[in-house]
Amino acid sequence: MKRLLLGNEALALGARAAGVAVATGYPGTPSTEIMEHFARYPGVRAQWCVNEKVALEVAIGASLGGARTMVTMKHVGLNVAADPFFAAAYTGVNAGLVVLCADDPGMHSSQGEQDNRNYARFAKVPLLEPSDSQECFDMVGVALDISEEFDIPVLLRTTGRVSHAQSVVEVDPALFQPTPKDSVRPRTFIRAPAKYVMLPGNARTRRLQLEERLKRLRQYAETTSLNQTLWQDRRLGVVSGSIAYQYAREAFPTASFLKLGMAYPFPADLVSRFAREVEVLVVVEELDPFLEEQIRSLPALQGMPIHGRDVFPGVGELSTELVAGCAIEHGLLSPTAAPSTTASSQPVTPLPMPPRPPVLCAGCPHRATFYVLGRLHAPAAPAEAGDRGGERQRERVIVTGDIGCYTLGALPPLSAMDTCLCMGASIGTALGMEMAGHKHRVVAVIGDGTFYHSGITGLVEVVTSGAATTIVIMDNGTTAMTGGNPNPGSGITIQGAPAPKVTLESLCRGLGVQDVVVVDAYDTEAIRAQLERSLRTDDPTVVIVRAPCRLQVSGPSEQVAWVDPDECVGCEVCLRAGCPALTRAGDKVEILAALCTACNLCGQICPHDAIHLGPRERTEG
Ligand code: SF4
Ligand code: SF4
Repeated sequence: MKRLLLGNEALALGARAAGVAVATGYPGTPSTEIMEHFARYPGVRAQWCVNEKVALEVAIGASLGGARTMVTMKHVGLNVAADPFFAAAYTGVNAGLVVLCADDPGMHSSQGEQDNRNYARFAKVPLLEPSDSQECFDMVGVALDISEEFDIPVLLRTTGRVSHAQSVVEVDPALFQPTPKDSVRPRTFIRAPAKYVMLPGNARTRRLQLEERLKRLRQYAETTSLNQTLWQDRRLGVVSGSIAYQYAREAFPTASFLKLGMAYPFPADLVSRFAREVEVLVVVEELDPFLEEQIRSLPALQGMPIHGRDVFPGVGELSTELVAGCAIEHGLLSPTAAPSTTASSQPVTPLPMPPRPPVLCAGCPHRATFYVLGRLHAPAAPAEAGDRGGERQRERVIVTGDIGCYTLGALPPLSAMDTCLCMGASIGTALGMEMAGHKHRVVAVIGDGTFYHSGITGLVEVVTSGAATTIVIMDNGTTAMTGGNPNPGSGITIQGAPAPKVTLESLCRGLGVQDVVVVDAYDTEAIRAQLERSLRTDDPTVVIVRAPCRLQVSGPSEQVAWVDPDECVGCEVCLRAGCPALTRAGDKVEILAALCTACNLCGQICPHDAIHLGPRERTEG
């Protein structure tokens, strides 16, 4: 049966087909949907974990316990999980363990690009790379087989285009039946301290065994059908993999190809044999010259014309047009031989689209806090020699921010965030600012999901440092940025079942913070008053600003805000809230009722009391 599937959906279905019984992960674009699809299958255990490190640790435990297991994350997540990832290469597995990791070339939803193929070589773990949904489906099972045969976790790396593109997959209809196809019987845990307890004495032995396993994996990579050769015109040979292979196939329709579905361990003999059969070798890959460097180092290919990063960029995503354009520019492809999409002399005229910067949703519970933070000034400092007229007192507080949809608070008109480094960094960054002398002027902002992920450790550091840091936890009860995934404070599982809650107040108090207060996220004045008080104290304070994510609230609000044109003077102060429901109408402001959620932030900040709430029917009627 043929099905049109997203790459991520195919990965989930492939995992089910291969008998994966346990899946863990942390949501992160472009990997999130793998778990969301997998969690729907009956009879499986699926869980969002507090962060990627924990997710991998749980997954390793499940594998050792005898269940075929997968763990999912985005590229930067593997940085968080690097410690157990490297350790698992030593201990090995029991039942198969596959680490599904999605890179984000082009940084569509990430703070940076990184090429996680390097992690495979770094940790000495085999690497598989699907280039379409069929391969996503097939390779999960192959990865688990390799994992069990060679006693090692396997890194299965996709990119955003593979994860989020749909293509046809041939699947067994039985997979869609309510009873899972249990093709793999669970293994039992076998006590083996020398294998699983990485004390130095044991680790030294496992280190040597890892080299042995890699030697056998290298031989496997030379002959596996994951690596495929396509012989066409031998004047040009292309080595590629992942989505770059699809672009290259379209850009070089007549060339010969070596597609590496298993790129590590690197199949040196296979590549050498292929290269010797062609006149010019071209390596097409996104991001780092991972393949190219290994190919160039092959003794058999010294002196051979090899092109790669000298032709194609190593920043951002490739595309068929880009690959063909670069190849034409460097004389590797004649314009007439290029595919019609690139050979066309007709310039593509983009459709006129209004510029639309990303904004927090209408009624987002974070907006009022950012509105306040953007206008909050440091508390009065004792006068010092050289102060000119109390100038220091008017300085705006520094806001250290974090990763989540609330990072949009950095953009105009809110412009209320000064730093944002990586998951969980805001609290540590604020502490560092204080250590540099900015005491009483710094507020750390972090979402509830990010706090559970890795903000907790920053707070521990604040407490043990005896610092006066002010921390705002924006608690909307979900991990909103990746699609509203539950976190430890949501009280719900990935399958929608009730779950115990870890309450932020208890957690923060348990970590040693005495001053923990909860404020309504829509009460602008309460937020301001609390922050001003917190900034004056000499103890760490946690201000939990709480209201559910607007996207988790079902249905339109009963009320809606409206602007009285007789009272509105057109000062546009309300537009500083940055709500997409507010719009200019001539020399006044108007509210788009269809978007408005009646959060009343604009009503609170209008200096002329021109904004009122009323029943939705009456306003719309
Ligand atoms: S803040 Fe009030 S008076 Fe000013 S433009 Fe908005 S609705 Fe009109
Ligand atoms: S009440 Fe004002 S700020 Fe809130 S959603 Fe409606 S228009 Fe936007």
